[in-house]
Amino acid sequence: MLTIGMLGGMSWESSAEYYRLANTAVRDRLGGLHSAKVVLHSVDFAEIERMQAEARWDDAATALAHAARQVQAGGADFLLICTNTMHKVFDQVQAAVDIPVVHLGDTTAAAIKRAGLTTVGLLGTGFTMDQPFYRERLERHGLTVLVPSAQDRATVHRIIYDELCLGVVKDESRRAYQDVIGRFDGAQGVILGCTEIELLISQDDVPLPVFPTTRLHVEAAVDRALG
Ligand code: GLU
Repeated sequence: MLTIGMLGGMSWESSAEYYRLANTAVRDRLGGLHSAKVVLHSVDFAEIERMQAEARWDDAATALAHAARQVQAGGADFLLICTNTMHKVFDQVQAAVDIPVVHLGDTTAAAIKRAGLTTVGLLGTGFTMDQPFYRERLERHGLTVLVPSAQDRATVHRIIYDELCLGVVKDESRRAYQDVIGRFDGAQGVILGCTEIELLISQDDVPLPVFPTTRLHVEAAVDRALG
């Protein structure tokens, strides 16, 4: 079994899910007491969030590149950046290590294509929805990506940082997300493109197929780890 490297803490609420899901998947596939081999580096998210808010992406890239080298030195065979948003600095992280970094946009796009869909709505942080880095990665796979209105994007972003990254899950926020999803015009499915969103909503809450990026990233990692 290969060792999965995780660059987490962004936020730790979702990194805990990465860890739990990876171990559950390995146990389900191998049985008994089998569990995932994992090297996790968890950052202080307050430091990273400040860099995001101040658009200091080069500083964030330097911090994550340093962390990635530590994960590699810890024996990881490949690496997951456990946040959609920080794929903004994917190229710098990949350039810092010799092990492959599994891009979350690619694992998500593969799942959408397996489902036979081409047009999807994207929910995520303001950075993920507003900036081209994430959408363009999906579009490279031939997908059409829709984003909510500016007002809806602000709501989705606020709930991520003020609630989900702090472990706060509210019914009214779930309803707000359902309303945003209901306003996508022409979407065949919805990307839960922030690793905390699946703490709030699941397939049962949404009439369209949903693509939970944490779960899909972990499944791809476990496939790779078990060969
Ligand atoms: N975990 C989130 C994501 O997937 C947001 C936190 C962050 O900015 O990294 O985008």
